[in-house]
Amino acid sequence: MTDSAPLDVDLALLGGGGAASLLLAALDRHGVRDLRIAIVDPVRRRGQDRTWAFWGHPDSDLDPLLSASWQQVEVATAARRRVLDLTPLRYAMLRSGPVYDRAADAERRLHATRIVAPAETVRDDGDRVLVGTGDGRGVRAGWVLDSRPRPPARAGRTTWLQHFRGWWLEADRPVFDPTRAVLMDFRTPQPPRGVSFGYVLPVSDRYALVEYTEFSPDLLTDAGYDAALAGYRDLLGLDPTGLRVREVENGVIPMTDAPFPARPTPRVVRRGTAAG
Ligand SMILES: Cc1cc2nc3c(=O)[nH]c(=O)nc-3n(C[C@H](O)[C@H](O)[C@H](O)COP(=O)(O)OP(=O)(O)OC[C@H]3O[C@@H](n4cnc5c(N)ncnc54)[C@H](O)[C@@H]3O)c2cc1C
Repeated sequence: MTDSAPLDVDLALLGGGGAASLLLAALDRHGVRDLRIAIVDPVRRRGQDRTWAFWGHPDSDLDPLLSASWQQVEVATAARRRVLDLTPLRYAMLRSGPVYDRAADAERRLHATRIVAPAETVRDDGDRVLVGTGDGRGVRAGWVLDSRPRPPARAGRTTWLQHFRGWWLEADRPVFDPTRAVLMDFRTPQPPRGVSFGYVLPVSDRYALVEYTEFSPDLLTDAGYDAALAGYRDLLGLDPTGLRVREVENGVIPMTDAPFPARPTPRVVRRGTAAG
């Protein structure tokens, strides 16, 4: 604990993950230079810890950071395979490394203060927000954007999970079609409750993220994800002796109708997953 006065800022970002990184990049892009900003997160996000994939128009500000994008996507069932043209939209892949690097550059130019400690308490008196931080100093902010993982205001009727494991596969020879992404390949064995599908995001003809995903109430074991992915690799007709797993990604994303308040108090606004 220290007894120094709280750090006074105009804006405090609680959580410095995906949502905060994009916000910092946007503030920088808009030339904001006179805002006193603090970022509070016990972890300094760097490098590759996730891959985001999303729909959008090709002219977004994120384009220079994309690893790949596809105009065509494929959807498959046991009975049928369809290739869909997304024009004027496209499906895009954004890896976390370039996003965190871009946010770190923005942070420097914005002269933001980084507090590597958890935000523990948030008290909004309507005029300022006092944030208690794990390093004992605290922050007093005009506004707070809060992207810490938060529980919902109350339980929902449905609390399922989108859970997945992905292998970044490098092949000895060209085996992937980089002109299209395979979305929702429902030929995977289906779980007793929920739905499963495979997913192939190729960044070149020899390198792709191959994923097994379930929308279901419960997680698999470690071995369960590996077995499901190996099964999907075989379903794709990929020869394991010509492949190397370069990286592994795991994710668990809540799927619920529980309410997440977007603005719990007048000067605190939730962002990212915490906002629902
Ligand atoms: C491998 C993977 C792939 C994913 N792919 C997709 C995708 O394709 N599309 C999609 O929409 N979503 C995807 N997700 C979900 C992903 O979590 C969100 O899209 C995105 O990261 C949400 O950003 P966020 O800022 O809300 O959360 P995060 O990026 O998780 O950031 C939250 C931050 O809060 C910090 N924090 C925690 N506790 C505290 C505290 N007490 N005080 C201060 N800071 C705290 C954490 O350290 C973290 O940095 C994926 C997740 C994973 C793991």
